Amino acid sequence: MPDSIAENIAHLHERIADAARRAGRTLDEIELMAVTKTVAAQRIGEAYEAGIRLFGENRVQEFDGKSPALRHLGGARFHMIGHLQRNKAARAAALFHCVETIDSWRIALALNEHAAKGGTELPVLLEINVGGEEQKSGLRPDSPELEQLLMRAPELPNIKIEGLMTVPPFVEDPERARPYFRQVRELRDAIKRRRFPGVSMDVLSMGMSHDFEVAIEEGATRVRIGTAIFGKRSALVS
Ligand SMILES: *Cc1c(COP(=O)(O)O)cnc(C)c1O
Repeated sequence: MPDSIAENIAHLHERIADAARRAGRTLDEIELMAVTKTVAAQRIGEAYEAGIRLFGENRVQEFDGKSPALRHLGGARFHMIGHLQRNKAARAAALFHCVETIDSWRIALALNEHAAKGGTELPVLLEINVGGEEQKSGLRPDSPELEQLLMRAPELPNIKIEGLMTVPPFVEDPERARPYFRQVRELRDAIKRRRFPGVSMDVLSMGMSHDFEVAIEEGATRVRIGTAIFGKRSALVS
């Protein structure tokens, strides 16, 4: 019999605590996000019952369909963690508590505009493409667009840049992801030191089911876990 969602979550909390201890970090610095792409609302509710309050979805349309069934989960927060197309920016600004995948000035501008119309302030993260993979979205660490987003943040008063998010290249051995996590943490530290007006850099969203312990050792403040909570996904979603 497969483990229950609640058991998986309890086990994850132990592994997160162990990784934090190894790194000399305290648990209150590290948030556990349940990644719920392809997961039905009822099973999301089970994770909520087990104490999860932070959820990540990859597709605006999928979450739009599920969100009415999740509205009763008081205090739950839902973050967009998949690539966001500009024609979905309005819906994303209305549906999500945070968009973790800002990868261009254009998408930031669009979200700012829609958040302004809605009279809200939308927290966002800048997605960093640390491995330089062509097919992956995200800002290269040395890209002029990253610099532009940081320098011109005050022009986007309805989005709040709170930190960085990354998905490093997939490697079987999580140890081989360590240099990528470290590089993103160092980038975060370097940005933080420059004290850009309107930019805070406290969030470092990195680490998934197979590599979250290494990510925590390298400074992750938020780990995004799907498979280790809900089991293998049957459908392919990017
Ligand atoms: C699917 C996904 C995750 C979770 O991946 P698992 O390996 O199932 O834990 C985390 N982050 C992003 C951006 C994802 O798309």
